[in-house]
Amino acid sequence: MVARRAQTLHAARENLNTKVRPMPELFRASKVAPMTPGWPLLEDAAVVVHDQAILDVGSFDHMRRKYAGPVRDLGTVTLAPAVFNSHVHLEMTHLLGKTAPGQGFVPWIKSLLALDAYAVDEPLVRAELLRLEQKGCAFVADISTRNAPLLAEILASSGLFFSSFHEVLGNAVPADPSTMVVGSDAVAGCGRGVCAVAGHALYSTSPELLGASKAVSAAHGLPYSLHLAEHADEDAIVLTGRSPFLDLLRERGFLTEYNAPGKRPVPLAAELGLLDAATLCVHCVTVSDEDISTLATSRASVCLCPRSNEYIGVGQAPLEKFLAAGVNLCLGTDGLCSNFDLDPYAELSWLAQRYPGAMSLCQGLALVTENPARFFGPLVPGVEKLGSLAPGQAARFSVVPGSVLDAFIDAE
Ligand SMILES: [Zn+2]
Repeated sequence: MVARRAQTLHAARENLNTKVRPMPELFRASKVAPMTPGWPLLEDAAVVVHDQAILDVGSFDHMRRKYAGPVRDLGTVTLAPAVFNSHVHLEMTHLLGKTAPGQGFVPWIKSLLALDAYAVDEPLVRAELLRLEQKGCAFVADISTRNAPLLAEILASSGLFFSSFHEVLGNAVPADPSTMVVGSDAVAGCGRGVCAVAGHALYSTSPELLGASKAVSAAHGLPYSLHLAEHADEDAIVLTGRSPFLDLLRERGFLTEYNAPGKRPVPLAAELGLLDAATLCVHCVTVSDEDISTLATSRASVCLCPRSNEYIGVGQAPLEKFLAAGVNLCLGTDGLCSNFDLDPYAELSWLAQRYPGAMSLCQGLALVTENPARFFGPLVPGVEKLGSLAPGQAARFSVVPGSVLDAFIDAE
């Protein structure tokens, strides 16, 4: 009798255990953008989630028949993977609205140099990162010149995946080049990011320092980032050594001994061995057809920052030509010293309105999901599980805002 009661209790406990085991949950949406090669935009679809990972994706009817779990009906929305911001300067978050807009690079940099540009406002940065997460952002690539360890620590304590780049500029190569990879112990512990190195630009950073920073990145299997072909002054400095910007720098004691290499930025970057599949070239505004083909052949990725380019007044990158060349295109907001917010979807909406008809909705979404995941995925822990809604991927979603959907509808 006692034995039977014990058996019954055991069976009841087993039953209870079965009941409390989490069941797959179905997230239903009127549209789902899986961002997986070969998959179109799905109508009335569901993403099935179990234990924070995606178990399945397909039409809602089909998923409902396969899985008995609870349904969260999100209604008339387009569900997409969580998005990436592939280029920001968080240490300049406090500069919102304080720099000169629309007059070109030299007036903008003069206005920036007059400010306390590197005085990180930590609570403000944390608030911006939280806002990004709430908007469905999962990844940030940050460039920091003077505060990389602090920014790495802030990113590690957020819920975001990240690459925290320490940006080098000037001439001197450290005796131990690996000291360029600076960061926080918290990064390794969090398992969501890396501390990496970025070169500032071809005119501000010596070929030796650029080469050493790229070499140390390659040796550690890290992503590398470089501002490249951002504005006409950059072209003039490296090509001819004559530019108002160079005059400004010399007035301030920089580049006093500068010798122009006599090449355009993209061929110069290629010659220095900076372009490969682990390099993200940021801006790429002043590029020729030949430059685009060099970038495509190198397998480097390109990060466009169209609103920053508009804010500063340097022109726009040739989006259609990059798309036609098959370059892996990503999107970044740049810092709040040259933009109004850090929202990748706001950047995409602006780009789609600026280039009506140039991209389908899925091509546009790829710039903030699939493409940056292709670049950062092999280089940053956990990022290979982001960027698409497919079985085995992380259950990190975003809802595509109406401003983005409208921009693509208007373009059709
Ligand atoms: Zn930048």
